[in-house]
Amino acid sequence: MFAIFLVTCLVAYAGYRLKSLTRSGVVLTVVTGTVIGYGFGWFGLYLLGVFFSTSSLASKYRASEKAPVDEIVEKSGPRDHIQVLANGGIGMVTALGMAVTANEAWLFAYIVSIAAATSDTWGSEFGVLAKKKPRSILTLRPVEPGTSGGVSLYGTLMSIVGAATIVLAVYPFMTLGFEVTLALIVLGLVGSVVDTLLGATVQRKYRCQVCGKLTEKQQHHGRATQYVSGWRWLGNDAVNFTSIATAALLCFFVFS
Ligand SMILES: [Zn+2]
Repeated sequence: MFAIFLVTCLVAYAGYRLKSLTRSGVVLTVVTGTVIGYGFGWFGLYLLGVFFSTSSLASKYRASEKAPVDEIVEKSGPRDHIQVLANGGIGMVTALGMAVTANEAWLFAYIVSIAAATSDTWGSEFGVLAKKKPRSILTLRPVEPGTSGGVSLYGTLMSIVGAATIVLAVYPFMTLGFEVTLALIVLGLVGSVVDTLLGATVQRKYRCQVCGKLTEKQQHHGRATQYVSGWRWLGNDAVNFTSIATAALLCFFVFS
């Protein structure tokens, strides 16, 4: 257990040095990693590591071309503690569930929670680079790249590849049949679809008073933005948390 804690500290410190985590993000990463290691052992940490490393690479991939998107999304740059909790909180719940009941469904729910987080991250990090403008998942009207609720063919493909990468990364540790593999990938993808649907409907959106852009930010050019639509308490982190929770819960009921 001490070794797991130590490795988690080292990884979190590396994440800080690589500017993938803020100071508060480091603290929550250590907590998340240790709890997940407690429930799932080294396997749990390994899968978390695959999510962290591939997501960091995805956000650094052609980063300079994503600058316009940073104007729209609520948070960019290193992840803070709320973002770590939004992506890893459900993983902690499944780890505690596993520690208490030893029901294998918790393990599958954990894999799906990581697959959903990866699917969503890859979908947005790669999707914003699509040549064609994304379209709203609901109205199919073109929207600015980076707008929550927008989908592109490329982004959707990368969401599937992201979920599949996590599920296939499980293979060295355990045998999954074809049907289980497929179910876990689909459930991971469900997470990112729920994320997009919430983004298109109830996630809070603002409009900049200076440049007129639709944004998730409460401030633009140092000036307060004007509320446009959505539930005021539902920002990007809450949307992430809810969509991962939905996918993991669905998975738990499928496998228990
Ligand atoms: Zn503006």
